[in-house]
Amino acid sequence: MPGTKKIPQRQCIGCGQMKDKKELIRILKTPENEIKIDTSLKKNGRGAYICKDKECLLKAIKQKGLERSFKMAIDVSIYDELKKEFDELGK
Ligand SMILES: [Zn+2]
Repeated sequence: MPGTKKIPQRQCIGCGQMKDKKELIRILKTPENEIKIDTSLKKNGRGAYICKDKECLLKAIKQKGLERSFKMAIDVSIYDELKKEFDELGK
């Protein structure tokens, strides 16, 4: 509709739901092929989005959502790191 400002929506790689961008966590692949949680939302690189819910992270791991988003193999240690970062965010 004209004049309606829409908040951009992104799909969670865990549960697959479309949500407002600001409700999701951005996971970033840096040019150095590192996978990180981008809390600033401003870093360059390819991003995937996920709910602020560890369940979704676990689902994404199970369904290889990150592999599909970034088209690369994701090491288990990266998942462990993400899980840790999720725990930090929940505090
Ligand atoms: Zn989700």
